[in-house]
Amino acid sequence: MPFSHLGLSEKVLSAVAAAGYTVPTPIQDQAIPHVLARRDVLGIAQTGTGKTAAFVLPMLTVLEQGRARARMPRTLILEPTRELAAQVEESFVKYGAKHKLNVALLIGGVSFDDQDAKLTRGVDVLIATPGRLLDHFERGRLLLSGVELLVIDESDRMLDMGFIPDIERICKLVPFTRQTLFFTATMPPEIRRITEQFLHNPVKVEVARPATTVAAITQQLVRSSGDPSEKREVLRRLIRAPEGVKNAIIFCNRKTEVARVHNSLRRHGFSVAALHGDLDQSARMHALDQFRRGEVALLVASDVAARGLDIPDVSHIFNFDVPHHPDDYVHRIGRTGRAGRSGTATTIVAPSDLRSVAAIESLIGQTIQWIADPAAGESPPDAQLPAAKSRPPRRDARRPRQPAPRQQAPRPPAKHARAEPASRPVTQAAIPAERNDRPDHLPAFLFRPVRVKV
Ligand code: AMP
Repeated sequence: MPFSHLGLSEKVLSAVAAAGYTVPTPIQDQAIPHVLARRDVLGIAQTGTGKTAAFVLPMLTVLEQGRARARMPRTLILEPTRELAAQVEESFVKYGAKHKLNVALLIGGVSFDDQDAKLTRGVDVLIATPGRLLDHFERGRLLLSGVELLVIDESDRMLDMGFIPDIERICKLVPFTRQTLFFTATMPPEIRRITEQFLHNPVKVEVARPATTVAAITQQLVRSSGDPSEKREVLRRLIRAPEGVKNAIIFCNRKTEVARVHNSLRRHGFSVAALHGDLDQSARMHALDQFRRGEVALLVASDVAARGLDIPDVSHIFNFDVPHHPDDYVHRIGRTGRAGRSGTATTIVAPSDLRSVAAIESLIGQTIQWIADPAAGESPPDAQLPAAKSRPPRRDARRPRQPAPRQQAPRPPAKHARAEPASRPVTQAAIPAERNDRPDHLPAFLFRPVRVKV
């Protein structure tokens, strides 16, 4: 069905045309008419499916009628992370340029007073993370009794992050008669319980997981020992591979590992930023902007921080750690191969990760190919790691296996490694060319040349 048949207003249709969208995505096609009919919607969809526009576009249409009152937002959108909240705000700016609506963002790491001033002026759309929303509510600066429409986005991630009690509380603070749009990628029992408790006769809309449909992503595994410093070496070799890593997101399982990998890559001269939950809001937004604008080529991230981020045109994903949950793998690799482009997702696998790899292969229904470590003299590790090959996948592989790339001799750094100065000071010139291969845990000064007076 074309956009013009979904019931959206003229203003919204012109914003859609200006964004260059010609055909609604399946989630938009199926959800928008129900949102406009003021039904509750249970959307089972992941990011990358166009689900943000599936609620933003009909909300804009509905909000064309009526006005906001001070401290009483008309609509409320709950997001698990600050970045996702900011991304939804951007969607309102993009599609709602002609609407003159007041949109406020209540997220941590930003001054309470500025947020409070916005609430006082009256808000049509309030986008919030649960904790900050409740902080404002408890200070008596916010009334939720005027909310006509509530969106709970990325609900399974809210569950992972321990936000479900907050969500339950917020659902009881908004009027019983509001409309609720509930989005989740998976339906664990706890999420099912919430939907049964807080949705009224919802329309269920389900779209395919992007990873099962994105054939444009080449997935591969590369062997490493479990030693973090060896894993970082493998990572550097992968980044420098001659196929050309235009830009990449590197995923780690823990925040501390994100910081370590980020520091290590920076020390080795790569252009890199980091994104994890311990950074303050402005640092996170800055890192993301730098990466989006191409000012840095590599972004090291944790799952939570990177969840759902819309960064078009990422050529490579590297899983520095194999994710513990197979769903996270699907989310991670979905950051590449977007909008019909091709992408490569490479996972570094230590022997202790084989069980997690098996779970991933079982979930995605295909065997992921092993490739050789780009280091000279390495052979594909099938022989060393037979367990990963011997286990049959749940379904047949959908794509033919690709030959492993030929082994490579050591090579100069990739184009996005920071340029070395043309003439180095004497002390630096004496540092061996392989200084980039010094072990990460040893400080640089240990490798500086020493002049001895005889
Ligand atoms: P989301 O799943 O909301 O993160 O959206 C993923 C990407 O799809 C975003 O970059 C949107 O701008 C884009 N998008 C959303 N709807 C459409 C559409 N109908 N046609 C093409 N691209 C779209």
